[in-house]
Amino acid sequence: MDFTEAKKRIEELRDILRENSRRYYVDNAPTMSDMEYDFLMHELEELEEKYPELLTPDSPTQRVGSDLDAPMGENAEPEARREFRKFPHRYPMLSLGNTYNISEIEAFAERASKILESGFSYCCELKFDGTAICLTYRNGELYRALTRGDGVYGDDVTENVLHIPSIPRKLSGSGYPAEFEIRGEILMPYASFDRLNREREDEEEPPFANPRNAASGSLKLLDPEETGRRGLVCTLYHIPSDSVSFETHDDALKAAASWGLPVSDKRKLCRSIGEIEDYISYWDTERKRLPFPTDGIVIKINEMASQRVLGYTAKSPRWAVAYKFKAEQALTRVVSIDYQVGRTGAVTPVANLEPVLLAGTTVKRATLNNADFIRDLDIRIGDWVYVEKGGEIIPKITGIEESRREPGTILPEFPTHCPDCGMALVRPEGEAKWFCTNTDGCPTQIKGRLVHFLGRKAMNIIAGDATVEQMYGLDLVRTPADFYDLHLSQLLQLEGWKEKSARRFLDSVSASKGVSFDHVLFALGIRYVGEETARALSEHFGSIDAIAAASKEELLGVPDVGEVIAESVYEWFREPRHAVEIQRLKASGLQMSLSSQGAKASDVLEGKTIVVSGTFSIQREDMKALISANGGKNSGSISGKTSFLLAGENPGPEKIKKAEALGVPIISEAEFRAMIPGDSPLPETTPSEGDQLSLF
Ligand code: NAD
Repeated sequence: MDFTEAKKRIEELRDILRENSRRYYVDNAPTMSDMEYDFLMHELEELEEKYPELLTPDSPTQRVGSDLDAPMGENAEPEARREFRKFPHRYPMLSLGNTYNISEIEAFAERASKILESGFSYCCELKFDGTAICLTYRNGELYRALTRGDGVYGDDVTENVLHIPSIPRKLSGSGYPAEFEIRGEILMPYASFDRLNREREDEEEPPFANPRNAASGSLKLLDPEETGRRGLVCTLYHIPSDSVSFETHDDALKAAASWGLPVSDKRKLCRSIGEIEDYISYWDTERKRLPFPTDGIVIKINEMASQRVLGYTAKSPRWAVAYKFKAEQALTRVVSIDYQVGRTGAVTPVANLEPVLLAGTTVKRATLNNADFIRDLDIRIGDWVYVEKGGEIIPKITGIEESRREPGTILPEFPTHCPDCGMALVRPEGEAKWFCTNTDGCPTQIKGRLVHFLGRKAMNIIAGDATVEQMYGLDLVRTPADFYDLHLSQLLQLEGWKEKSARRFLDSVSASKGVSFDHVLFALGIRYVGEETARALSEHFGSIDAIAAASKEELLGVPDVGEVIAESVYEWFREPRHAVEIQRLKASGLQMSLSSQGAKASDVLEGKTIVVSGTFSIQREDMKALISANGGKNSGSISGKTSFLLAGENPGPEKIKKAEALGVPIISEAEFRAMIPGDSPLPETTPSEGDQLSLF
């Protein structure tokens, strides 16, 4: 590779890594496996080492991935961002050098022994797969909890952390310094993860891809009580050395445990690479029995004096390295293959598998991508296949076990016609997938577009597949604009819907009128217009009318918009039925330009800061959205500046106490509903168990 090629590849790698870092840390919805990400990072490191003149301080190799000040993504909780106060870390919070290879652990040990004059030992620990936290204790009490943030500044999540039971508010024992920092990981055990995803599915919200994403999303909720309900645990593994004066890292952790702090007892002191290897191979299998996720082990030089000599690179300590476990694989059988039609008409084959346990959860389905993938791997129904979890929720098949192929396996037949509407499938030139072209008549495509429109990244309306299925079945909706014409009486026709569920839906539809223009544009489901492109188009043109009037050349003038996107956008706006749809959505009050952005359902709560606590007739997040849509500001904690505490059933006793002490008014849901327009007060009844369950 010559200089010009290397420069091009470096830029390409930086773009890919930055984009995936954002998906991972900000959206909590990665689309690439960690191993793929790490290999690309290593490729970039090698190229930068070979061409040091191309190294820049903003390269992903020089910075830790940041979760600060980021826009909302698929799995971000509503209003969970931009709201935390930021504080600088006393010592930067860095990453760890990582490898999937024992020989690189040997190289790490060799580098250290060349620099260190005295002998040293290793402390091997589990690498907990959660989200990093830095706790400061002052005079024996938890004073502040910061996330890693960008490594230099962290988000202040103290209130949330106070609701995690394994983190003590007060230390026990004796001999702790007047003030010190301790760092560790907030984790979501598999049991909590499964429960949370079941709840999210019931609520028709997208499930979290893995416990790590769920832990980081749950830690950064604006509502500390909700964080407390998520079943998070904490384990601590590092006291920055200036804070205390211990001889070894292990001594520091022993002391921390004696002060009542949660420290793992799975660590082991090792003196040789052989002992490290034994520790690795023991935990490579044994970790599958742990109730929480781990993704490797961390090897640390145990002596603090040696750690100080070795110091740090821009991104990680030189005295520690992580050995990462390869993604777990499971072997199972293909029972059948479904052919799913997406909202664009693309047909994706999905394998139904004999259920198998993989990385803590049961896997029953795996994507087969397209016809070529099935052909290339020669997958047949009845075959034994290896499945692996990538970044996505649906695992993928990585290969077949030919030695176990039995007679009678069936060669899959890719359908020639749409499994839903029966239209002949076509495979356009250059596409890997087959498509159903019956855009306006194929029920699956129509429903798919409606579900996309409601989604969290789109209009964030609390409904999903099941609701759309029901509404479509009763002929209530065909296009997104129909959602805005629905009445309470129509919703009450839906099976299992009661007044509460109907009102909850209508509240959410009403709140969606405040969703920003770029999200509205994304919600329209124009092919190739993802979240980023929608943002770029909305910033460039400023309004839907300007985009509709733009020529292909003008569309090509938008950063990152190429021929394919320009063509798709241009053609979409040439369809008369789309023009009608836009007019209807405009008339319903959706944000169709940047200038109208910020327009609200009302501004009756303008200037009011409101804290919510307890349970309501609608989800708490929806209650907050209703507050924002009417001009109010949500806050997680009560202070003198709080306008009122909106208290539902069983409000937090601490919140009530604080509100009373500060003279902050406490109002009920019924009183609140009387304040906002377009809504009549709900009857003051206690929701029964049956009512709760019947919501959607
Ligand atoms: P990391 O997760 O690989 O390692 C560093 C972290 O390990 C520390 O910050 C700490 O939080 C944690 N840790 C757990 N147990 C520990 C222990 N016993 N001692 C010390 N630290 C411990 O690094 P990172 O910087 O948080 O993340 C980078 C990694 O994230 C990448 O290597 C990649 O695997 C993954 N990633 C994946 C994608 C993707 O698209 N899949 C994108 C970005 C990052």
